[in-house]
Amino acid sequence: MSEDDLLNLIPVTWIKQYYFCPRIIYYLGVSGYDERLTESMIEGKEFHSSEEWKARRRRSVAGERKERVKSAWSKIPAFSKRIGLYGVIDEVYETDYGLVVVENKFMKAPRKPYPSHIYQAVAYAMLAEEKLGRIARKVVIKYLRDNVAFEIQLTEDLKRHVQWATSRIKSIIEGEKLPKGNRKKCRNCGFARICGGV
Ligand code: SF4
Repeated sequence: MSEDDLLNLIPVTWIKQYYFCPRIIYYLGVSGYDERLTESMIEGKEFHSSEEWKARRRRSVAGERKERVKSAWSKIPAFSKRIGLYGVIDEVYETDYGLVVVENKFMKAPRKPYPSHIYQAVAYAMLAEEKLGRIARKVVIKYLRDNVAFEIQLTEDLKRHVQWATSRIKSIIEGEKLPKGNRKKCRNCGFARICGGV
């Protein structure tokens, strides 16, 4: 892949940002602001590295059912020109039924996983399929603060949705037009000072 192709790829974390508020994509992709590194993110990074260590030794996948693990990878970098995304996948397990992709979140578990977390995990699963040449069957989202995991079967609909979000992100960047913000999220937004809300 040429350097130009690589520059056109979108980080998977922007999928999560897009679902939080599309306006953040403008600040990241057009204005060139960095994602804010909060204390909980720093703490999360440290916790992630201990999870990484455990992942390589795990013989069963996190989740309700225990599944025999044939191979395990952690923190694998992956990119795809076809999908238009790149990122580092937290954990991937090969089981008898296909790949299982785990996305770790350093936060308390919600009642059900946020759509932004689901689509982010699905995007990683799509990259894992392409990188490892095997079918991914499901994603697991683990909320590490209280050790709760949600399993989601991977469907073509979920994958199509990720592709749609990726194309929306690209059009915000290419169009250089400030999109409508998500007013409900302003109170918890790291970009509030730049943006000033909706
Ligand atoms: S402050 Fe509100 S509108 Fe602005 S980027 Fe954040 S969530 Fe979106």
